[in-house]
Amino acid sequence: MITNILVAIDGSEHAIKAFDLACDLAVKYHAQITAVYVIENFEVPSELRHFAEVEHLSTDAYTLHYKVISENVTSKAKKLAVEKGVSLLETKVLEGNPAQKIVEFAESNAIDTIIMGSRGLGTFTGLIQGSVSSKVSHLAKCTCISVK
Ligand code: ATP
Ligand code: MG
Repeated sequence: MITNILVAIDGSEHAIKAFDLACDLAVKYHAQITAVYVIENFEVPSELRHFAEVEHLSTDAYTLHYKVISENVTSKAKKLAVEKGVSLLETKVLEGNPAQKIVEFAESNAIDTIIMGSRGLGTFTGLIQGSVSSKVSHLAKCTCISVK
């Protein structure tokens, strides 16, 4: 039974494909979706820092990264979910090692199905599967679907 889906999103086209499948399954099985984005990189580019100063925003690296990237990634997911007729959607932004956080979240929130892209934003073209999706498939106790 698919009742509680975690879909891992990183802003890549692959993850959108994964999210699309998650939506189809959620509609079919009346399942809940939690879209999880893990913030991994705290480096803030200088242009972004300058923008923050001009706009009187906090220049704290975490806050900036959190605000700009996570809002963008999660709002895309929310928009797509509405288009696909999904009513049970939550978005979560976590901080840390992506694979570890995804697996921990799945275990502590009774997730039964994790859906990810086989690849993400990485640019190393020789890879069939990225390091995050491969680690999650190895470590998670529940079903993992890697979307190509
Ligand atoms: P690598 O990062 O190993 O260079 P890659 O970026 O191509 O390669 P992954 O990072 O493993 O591949 O991405 C595969 C999938 O894992 C993505 O489509 C997404 O579903 C999930 N994922 C990757 N990074 C994150 C993240 N920071 N937060 C949430 N999900 C992620
Ligand atoms: Mg990646």
